Amino acid sequence: MNKPETSSLYEFFSQIPDEEAARLYFEAKRWGGTPVCAHCGSTNAAECKDHRPMPYRCRDCRKHFSVRMGTVLGESKLDLHKWLMAIYLMTTTREGMTSAQLARELGVSRKAANTLATRIRESWLDDTRSFAGKK
Ligand SMILES: [Zn+2]
Repeated sequence: MNKPETSSLYEFFSQIPDEEAARLYFEAKRWGGTPVCAHCGSTNAAECKDHRPMPYRCRDCRKHFSVRMGTVLGESKLDLHKWLMAIYLMTTTREGMTSAQLARELGVSRKAANTLATRIRESWLDDTRSFAGKK
């Protein structure tokens, strides 16, 4: 795994303090600033005012979408912020995190932590080099 540039949990939380910041982080990482419709691939999207039911609406196919759709994030109901924390913990712990540790740190069930860990290992999510504003 790549060594993240963030050096501490403190730094992580000062860069990504909440769910909104986590969403923006994932959006920047996945889309590079331009939302792409998960249904038709169009970049002609409008941001919804109150972000309900989802942050974006495609002007071409008129469907709503979010950064979670079409990724492993979409399969879970877990907060994006917790996903990021899990990624952070897994990539910064040298010996690797057990799902029991992860469950304790995130306040989720051991089963949920186990699923998270598997998903993160299998996906693009373990690349934290571009953490919050760093390229
Ligand atoms: Zn569309």
